[in-house]
Amino acid sequence: MTHLWTPWRSAYIQGKHAKDRCIFCEAAQPNRDEENLVIYRGEACFAMLNRYPYTSGHLMIAPYEHVARLSLAKEATAMEIMRLTRRAESVLQQVYQPDGLNLGMNLGEAAGAGIEQHIHMHVLPRWVGDANFMSTVAGTRVIPEALPDTYAKLKRAFSELQP
Ligand SMILES: [Zn+2]
Repeated sequence: MTHLWTPWRSAYIQGKHAKDRCIFCEAAQPNRDEENLVIYRGEACFAMLNRYPYTSGHLMIAPYEHVARLSLAKEATAMEIMRLTRRAESVLQQVYQPDGLNLGMNLGEAAGAGIEQHIHMHVLPRWVGDANFMSTVAGTRVIPEALPDTYAKLKRAFSELQP
């Protein structure tokens, strides 16, 4: 499997086959969490796996509401994005013991947002040398863990962790 991307381009890859789909609005719908890779539901926001992870454990936190800018989200929603981001940080640290983490949000196409109409925070574990590895092999990455395994592990850890 070949992946050509920066950490922030994954949503673009997800979206490019169906231009008008919003994967976050789809994932926000109830009753299909496993299919949509949703691992946790909060009041205004939810956490889901990236279907095309840059590293194992690549998560995204998004509001249920289809909103294009953080500044346009309700304050409570923005706060919950940060609460779930902190929780994701703790969960990933506990489950994968990475050397570091990337947290980030791209607003607008010029900033690298793949799906620019629905804000989402990327949270991903990083290891020393993972980027070097990627450039060495010119974009071909081996994702070391199968998605269903990641899903089961992180869903459990997200629920068990005290908020
Ligand atoms: Zn949306």
